[in-house]
Amino acid sequence: MFIDGRNVPDGTFIETDLAIIGAGAAGITIARELSGSGISVTLIESGGFDFDAEVQNLYDGESVGVPYPIDTSRLRYFGGSTNHWGGWCRPLDEIDFEARDWVPHSGWPITRKQLDPFYARATEVCQLGSNDFDNAEAWSNDGKNRVMAFPGGDVVTRFFLYSPPTRFGQKYRNDIGTAPNITTYLNSNVTEIVPDETGRTVERLTLATLTGHKFEIRPKTCILATGGIENARMLLLSNTVAKAGLGNGHDNVGRFFMEHPHVDGPAQMVFTDTSSMAAWYPARVDYGNIHVRGVFMYGPDYMRREKRVGTIMTIHRKRVIAAGDPMLDDGTEPLERAMLNVTRSTTSTRGADENLGLLFGTGCATEQAPNPLSRVTLSDEKDALGLPRSRMDWRLTFEDRENLRLNFETLARAFGRWGEGRVKILFASKPVWEEAEGWGNHHMGTTRMTSDPRTGVVDADCKVHGMSNLYVAGSSVFTTSGTINPTLTVVALALRLADHIKTIYEEGA
Ligand SMILES: Cc1cc2nc3c(=O)[nH]c(=O)nc-3n(C[C@H](O)[C@H](O)[C@H](O)COP(=O)(O)OP(=O)(O)OC[C@H]3O[C@@H](n4cnc5c(N)ncnc54)[C@H](O)[C@@H]3O)c2cc1C
Repeated sequence: MFIDGRNVPDGTFIETDLAIIGAGAAGITIARELSGSGISVTLIESGGFDFDAEVQNLYDGESVGVPYPIDTSRLRYFGGSTNHWGGWCRPLDEIDFEARDWVPHSGWPITRKQLDPFYARATEVCQLGSNDFDNAEAWSNDGKNRVMAFPGGDVVTRFFLYSPPTRFGQKYRNDIGTAPNITTYLNSNVTEIVPDETGRTVERLTLATLTGHKFEIRPKTCILATGGIENARMLLLSNTVAKAGLGNGHDNVGRFFMEHPHVDGPAQMVFTDTSSMAAWYPARVDYGNIHVRGVFMYGPDYMRREKRVGTIMTIHRKRVIAAGDPMLDDGTEPLERAMLNVTRSTTSTRGADENLGLLFGTGCATEQAPNPLSRVTLSDEKDALGLPRSRMDWRLTFEDRENLRLNFETLARAFGRWGEGRVKILFASKPVWEEAEGWGNHHMGTTRMTSDPRTGVVDADCKVHGMSNLYVAGSSVFTTSGTINPTLTVVALALRLADHIKTIYEEGA
């Protein structure tokens, strides 16, 4: 059942077993999993079924570090940011969960293996058509597509599978609306999570609508699922009893904000043998309902040996290079001519008039190491509900930048050794990320998962340290960001949390 919060009489108290705050990928997944269970679920969503500029404005905030689009990098209505996500999916790698001695603050309290069964279920929720992410053989198109076999394993081909992309609000609206045990309040903003006087148990949620209505929900258990920036803001705003905010006894809420810095055009590539370029590298390829894109990543042995974090490189075709191409002019940069000369020498059978090769542009996304100074706090500015807005201080370090540049060098060497292509790096070593960089709209780390309450915000079950009945869902719980887009992991963790909630209720019943 859907209820418009603007029609709920002022001062109403609603009792429920489980309150889920936020109906995005995480909140909708958890609610669906609990559909038909004996648990009464109240799903609370700030927006309605469509975009509304006034509601969206509640997401506006300050950006005081590396410039960041705090408003436009998320959407505030039923379905959340999945209303405009791109659908790139892949699980995090095993190494992403490990404590890496060269990455301060790394190490999740759970392993990739523990998450594997949930990843399998998440591929269905995200409609990927397969749970086999690196099945190059099946996609080889009778040998026409082949994986570039870089010697040494430092650089490897990995595959993303695309979600259609699943618009969670549209695809699962009927499931949520018809579930007998789920009530969804739309146009209803949680303004504070209020604990009892011990500060350890959530007692009630205060809600407000933009029309000025105020009411309360009293849940036995509460899951905060408002997205990677807002989860931190909500905990910080919940400061009536705990002055520093809920779960913030060790000043970790909002810290460790991580993105996946994107760089457009960090390198150029030239390939001589165009037949060696599988179709899945420069573009998405569809195999029935499975949609595949090949990318370059880095092997775990390389990352351990060289003490690096990961990068994903994509390529896109720019143009054919034929005899007489401007790149061959004496006026062009020596490196470009050298790239072509080397590649030409690897294809001795070619005539002078034939295509000499293909020029590719590149894009990349890279892992940002956890940094406590990169953080979300509360601004002095207020939103339309009178609540302090978010203040984003996104920090990128010299080490983050240098890691990326050195990964490019490794990529260039791998292509050189492979022999059929050459890479020219355009990304310079600089002390700061001064040029306008891109980002992935991935908000991670602000309520990080750790086993030690002093170093994080939630435990391995996603329960807020020190709280008896408050959980967090979403990429804010990521201890480290890995390189891969977050949503498949968000959904896997949501499914795991839903199972955990079921167990609690079964044990308590
Ligand atoms: C342009 C774009 C492209 C993207 N592409 C990809 C991609 O290709 N692959 C990928 O993996 N990820 C991608 N992402 C990220 C992806 O959208 C998010 O990881 C995912 O939506 C997170 O799910 P969530 O449920 O944690 O948060 P959200 O989907 O953001 O949902 C949070 C919900 O909480 C609600 N809410 C917020 N505050 C309150 C409140 N106080 N009270 C009640 N409700 C509240 C919001 O209205 C919203 O519905 C992309 C994001 C953007 C913006």
